[in-house]
Amino acid sequence: MAEIPRLYQVWKGNNKFLLNGRLVFGPDAKALIVTVMLIVLPVGVFCAFVAREFQHHSQECNAGYVIMSVAIILTVSVLVFLFLTASRDPGIVPRNSHPPDEILNCYSSAPAVSSNEKCVPHTKEVRVNGLAVRVKYCDTCMVFRPPRCTHCKICDNCVERFDHHCPWLGQCIGKRNYRCFFLFVSSAAVLCGFVLSMTALHIKFVVDEHGNQWRAIKESPASLALMADCFVSLWFVGGLTVFHLYLISQNKTTYENVRNRGDNKRINVYSLGCMSNCNEVFCTRVEAPRINFQGYAADEAASAAAPNSNNKAGGGCMKNEAIMEENHPSRVRVKVEDDVDIGDVLLKLSRRRNYSQDIHGIFGTPPPHKSPPPES
Ligand SMILES: [Zn+2]
Ligand SMILES: [Zn+2]
Repeated sequence: MAEIPRLYQVWKGNNKFLLNGRLVFGPDAKALIVTVMLIVLPVGVFCAFVAREFQHHSQECNAGYVIMSVAIILTVSVLVFLFLTASRDPGIVPRNSHPPDEILNCYSSAPAVSSNEKCVPHTKEVRVNGLAVRVKYCDTCMVFRPPRCTHCKICDNCVERFDHHCPWLGQCIGKRNYRCFFLFVSSAAVLCGFVLSMTALHIKFVVDEHGNQWRAIKESPASLALMADCFVSLWFVGGLTVFHLYLISQNKTTYENVRNRGDNKRINVYSLGCMSNCNEVFCTRVEAPRINFQGYAADEAASAAAPNSNNKAGGGCMKNEAIMEENHPSRVRVKVEDDVDIGDVLLKLSRRRNYSQDIHGIFGTPPPHKSPPPES
């Protein structure tokens, strides 16, 4: 008898899994090797040349060992946060095995000749903190995305509170790993600052000792290279830390910040004030993942296919959103929402057309009375 596969073995996204689905990496997890090298190599050089020199010059107080220990502790914390960010499900939304009824009804009731635009793209309005927010239907995952959820084209998943896809970690940054990501970036900035300042101090000692800058540079080329490396890195990770502190205080994601740039009139419905926004990121418990990748694929398929009400709410995605209320699940939307471009719309149309053929094959029912009009 064939063994029922686990969900991580048949998952349609581009993720890589380890330990039987316990660790969820992004598709380009190899980028982690480069990132780890970029962290570990400079620290290795620092310990071998700079910290050892400190120890050589101040053997009584063991300053070199203290400096080395601090550098190693900081490096380990950076690597731990990096691992936690890269190996955690960022907030992947469960997929549906077939589209919600609203989407199907849209086609079955749409006039045969009239514009397909009445159904595409399909959106609905929900209320967040008392204000209306329009959410969109994802054709790939076949769910209505919860607010702030975006489909990452690299991972091929809908991710809740999508911030960005990080190329250095090869993973999406979303609702469940954003805090670890911020701690990774900020601890990396602290490490860079520490190594830079200690290396600068070391170069000062060497200059004082030799009384000549060029002689000192000749004596310790590693220190100079380290200073240059840390200076550049500090600008990058330090700038990123300040940028994310701003985003956290405003309760924005990087994606929202880029998308809404220049639109100063747009109200941020998610902001609850600076303190509450910081509290939300740093002090609230990380929610459990919505998908059990270790579970059997058959169970997941059954839960996705079972009740129609589940489909209506987007594969259960919206059920747990306490602050959201479905307002008008109107299937007729003419306006195209912000980040949907024409290419996507045409792709979705063709996929829907394929689906209507598939569903006919599965259920043995005649095709919808009024099929979607042509894409043109
Ligand atoms: Zn999606
Ligand atoms: Zn991604």
